[in-house]
Amino acid sequence: MRVVSNGDLHISAPYGVPKGEIDRFIQSNETWIQKALQKQLAANRQRSNFYSQLPLETREQVREAVQRLDALVQPMLLKYTALMGVKPTRITYKPTISRWGACNKKTGAICFSTYLLLLPEWCVEHVVVHELAHLIEANHGPKFHALMDQYFPRWKEARKAIRETVRG
Ligand SMILES: [Zn+2]
Repeated sequence: MRVVSNGDLHISAPYGVPKGEIDRFIQSNETWIQKALQKQLAANRQRSNFYSQLPLETREQVREAVQRLDALVQPMLLKYTALMGVKPTRITYKPTISRWGACNKKTGAICFSTYLLLLPEWCVEHVVVHELAHLIEANHGPKFHALMDQYFPRWKEARKAIRETVRG
């Protein structure tokens, strides 16, 4: 049983368990459910507080943010494309939440979240290297992690720092 991000309760039970039994199970875990729900709501609130630090409502705000991020990311791209011997075909910026970057290995296009502006610079660098590494290796397997070890040895630390920055 778990509370998912929208506050729904998900319960898995073996096939054929009578509904009454599931209801009783829910009732007997009421306290746990309430606690988990509160925790989930607090996490959601924290997350929306974090992202609202960068207002992207007007065209001007978006333009300014993209310009600022591009100025930060381009030198990193220059450095790591040379080091790693890769070349993205297209760089775009989108205000994606809970996704810092995306790479399409087939087309070579990379998209970064505009909200990277809310992260420390070395964490942005981590995301840049991560997406560039996807141009070599599509999946997050051992080969991918070996690339990260080679080009951004502090990747685990950065991942943790990113999670902590969002959580506040
Ligand atoms: Zn990835």
